[in-house]
Amino acid sequence: MIPRFKPSLDIQEFLKIFSINRGAEKKFEKEFAKKFNAVDAIAFPYGRSAQWAFFNAIGLKNSQIIMPSYTCSVVAHSISLSNNTPRFIDINLDDFNMDLDLLREAINKDTRAIIATHTFGYPQDIETLEKIIRDAEERFGNKIWLMQDCCHAFGAEYQGRMIGCSGDVAVYAFNISKIMHSIFGGMLTFQDQELADKVRAWRDHNFKRTSIFKSIKRRAYLFAVYIAFNKYVYTITCWIQNNTALLDTFTKAYHLDDEIQFPPDYLERISNVEAAVGLVQLDKYPEIIRFRKEAALNYSKNLANKKNEWKLPPIIDGATYSHYPVRVPNKQEVMAEYLSRGIQLGEVIEYSIPDLKCYKNIGDDCPNSREASQTTINFPVTK
Ligand SMILES: *Cc1c(COP(=O)(O)O)cnc(C)c1O
Repeated sequence: MIPRFKPSLDIQEFLKIFSINRGAEKKFEKEFAKKFNAVDAIAFPYGRSAQWAFFNAIGLKNSQIIMPSYTCSVVAHSISLSNNTPRFIDINLDDFNMDLDLLREAINKDTRAIIATHTFGYPQDIETLEKIIRDAEERFGNKIWLMQDCCHAFGAEYQGRMIGCSGDVAVYAFNISKIMHSIFGGMLTFQDQELADKVRAWRDHNFKRTSIFKSIKRRAYLFAVYIAFNKYVYTITCWIQNNTALLDTFTKAYHLDDEIQFPPDYLERISNVEAAVGLVQLDKYPEIIRFRKEAALNYSKNLANKKNEWKLPPIIDGATYSHYPVRVPNKQEVMAEYLSRGIQLGEVIEYSIPDLKCYKNIGDDCPNSREASQTTINFPVTK
C-alpha cells in the first residue's frame, strides 16, 4: 500500500538512535538559520511550544491574535494557553489561505498579532499582508506582530521572496508527518538579533533541560516509526490504528483537536537525538522538496480528467506541497475507492477551528473553512 504520508528515513537517521549527539541542538539551530536565511533560529520541543513561548517572551497577553480558521488546531491552543484570544479569519477555497480582504476588515484596536499560515505550502501574498498590517498599525497606533506559520511551507517563496524571512518571526514544526522531521520538535526563526536574544533568554529560563527519560523515549519512538512504516508492516500498522486503541497512547497524548491542552513535556527542551535527526533531514531537504513538486505536477496532469467533478489545487512557483489537497464532493467514497487500489489518501485537516467545541464561544463563522474541512482529501507526496 502507498501510505498517505511516509517520513523520509534512511540509515543516517537510524544511526542517531545509537549516538550521543552532544551539542546537536545548537548545531541544528545554526544550520537551520543558515538554510532558511534567518539571522538566528531557536529550537523548541514542538511547534506549538515555540508559538506559545514567543507570545510569552514578548509579553503579549490579554490580547487578540488573528489566525486562519483552517489550520492545525494547536495554533489556536498556543494563543489560548498564552492567555490571549484567537480570532478566526475564513479562507479562500482556491489556495486554502486566509482571505486577506476579510483580514483587512477584521483587524481592530485590540489586535496585537497575526499568524499567517501558508497552508499546504501555498505561499500567501506577503506583500499585501505586510501592507494591511502597516496600514492598521498607522490607523490604531500600536505594533501588530506578524508570525509566519511555515509548518507546511519550509522555504516557500512568494514571487521570489522566501516567506519565512518576512514578518517578525517564523515558526516551523518537525513531527514525522511534516515536510522534514526531527522526531518531534519546532523552531522559531528571526531576522532581528535583538528579538531573537530576548526569546532565547526566555526559553533558557523557562524550559527544562531534556531528561534522560525523554531522550530514551524519543529513540524508542523513532525505532518504532521505522518498523511501523516498513512496507511489509504498514498494512498491519493501519489495521491496529483503525481497530484498536493501542496507538492512541502515542497520538492522543500528543494531540486532541478539541481540547485546549499541550502534551505533558511541552516545556522540556528538544533532545539532542531529535536535533541530530533534524540535521540529517536538513541536508536531504532539497531532495524532499524536489520530489513533492514533481508529485504535485504529476497529479495535476493525471487527475486533469476529473476536473469537472473535483477541485484540483493550483500549481504555483514557490509552493512546497506539504500536501496535495483535492476537494471532492464525496470524500469517504473516493478514499475507499483509492484504498481498494492500494493508495491511502489522507484527511489532513478535517475540522474548521471555529466549529470545534472549545472555540464555538468565539462566534466566528467561516463557511469556506467548513466547506474545506468536509471536502478535502490529500494525495501522497512522499517517496
Ligand atoms: C504541525 C503544525 C503546527 C504545530 O506543530 P507541533 O509540532 O505539532 O506543535 C503549527 N502549525 C501548522 C500549520 C502545523 O501544521
